[in-house]
Amino acid sequence: MSVHSPNPALILQNKRWNGLRNVLEREGPFCKDDFSASSDNLEFLQTNCKLLVIGAGGLGCELLKDLALMGFGNLHVIDMDTIELSNLNRQFLFRRTDIGSSKAECAARFINGRVPTCRVTPHFKKIQDFDETFYQQFNLIVCGLDSIVARRWINGMLLSMLRYEDDGSIDTTSIIPMIDGGTEGFKGNARVILPGYTACIECTLDLFPPQVNYPLCTIANTPRLPEHCIEYVKIIQWDKESPFGVPLDGDDPQHIGWVYERALERANEFNITGVTYRLVQGVVKHIIPAVASTNAVIAAACALEVFKLATSCYDYMSNYLNFNDLDGIYTYTYEAEKSEGCLACSNVPQTVTVDDPNTTTLEDVIKQLCDSPRFQLKNPSLTTVMKDGKQKTLYMSTVKSIEVATRKNLTQSLGELGLQDGQQLTVTDVTSPSAMIVQLKFQGNEIEMV
Ligand SMILES: [Zn+2]
Repeated sequence: MSVHSPNPALILQNKRWNGLRNVLEREGPFCKDDFSASSDNLEFLQTNCKLLVIGAGGLGCELLKDLALMGFGNLHVIDMDTIELSNLNRQFLFRRTDIGSSKAECAARFINGRVPTCRVTPHFKKIQDFDETFYQQFNLIVCGLDSIVARRWINGMLLSMLRYEDDGSIDTTSIIPMIDGGTEGFKGNARVILPGYTACIECTLDLFPPQVNYPLCTIANTPRLPEHCIEYVKIIQWDKESPFGVPLDGDDPQHIGWVYERALERANEFNITGVTYRLVQGVVKHIIPAVASTNAVIAAACALEVFKLATSCYDYMSNYLNFNDLDGIYTYTYEAEKSEGCLACSNVPQTVTVDDPNTTTLEDVIKQLCDSPRFQLKNPSLTTVMKDGKQKTLYMSTVKSIEVATRKNLTQSLGELGLQDGQQLTVTDVTSPSAMIVQLKFQGNEIEMV
């Protein structure tokens, strides 16, 4: 072998990416304006382009595999969960010996060992553990989440990171595109969100299936559904009474039996019917079917959008793909529109309309914030500035001592609390990293003015 022979490993390495080179090193009629065919494109994917994958579960495993094999060389992954036996049928980066270990760490180790051109950095944490400076380092963010709250939170984070020019237009360098995948059983969707430009998560909040998590205030104070009674026993009563001295196990018939009896008692107390043993099982175990093939299709659609956005080699999807493989395969893509009054991306002040401030209690307002399709808050805390300029905490459930101190406000009317028409409330909730201003609008006053 002469010294001038190319290194066999290098030849193999070059062949490995032939498919990508065909796309990235040749011009085509569908390339975006800022695309220039060159070997730099592949190099960018492998060295400079930095992606964040949120979630290392069913979708996350597929996403990491797809992106690593598509030439991306610098991935980060966040997941707060550990591996369970029931994950192994579809979360293929994990093995039996990984049970109990961090999903993010095991997934990263597997990809790093298998795809030498890719380096995955794991974060065994919650997304809420990171701030703006962390998220800023990424070119793109891909979500494979099963939680709407987490999606709303990261959506809020990316919107809060937007910077504006003097004329009010968005500084385009501050936009981090978010590609969001979601699956439930045989249904799935993939979407491209350019924060500030295209419909965000909150713009289309009404598209999400009915919430499985009920607002804590409803569960604790005003249950209406059998599910509320079951959730109450599961979330509050179990920990308080600790009947078996261990955490609730959805597979233990004794545990389910106990929850069933207590939920039935609570349902009777509030004249609610429909608590059955079967329903208790469903609510306690959060049974959401997971179908591996749906995950694979949705993750592939997301990875393709990441590739197009990162390289400009083709126009990205605009902007919402629906997929269903329950009976054959059905799919369509449409352009979800920005909502003019969007909670997160519109800058339009949000109002809560109150019929009569003398009969409407603070709890009624909180209920509206939880139940209305526009807000869908989970566990809001409310503060305001009173007429005398003093800051007042109206209700806060996240800090035990403050909850106790402010609980009495719940049953007081807005009039009794000294709140005025047009009063601004500062509302914080787990669904967003930043506080939201909500203005009270008293219907009675408006009619008088007319
Ligand atoms: Zn929006």
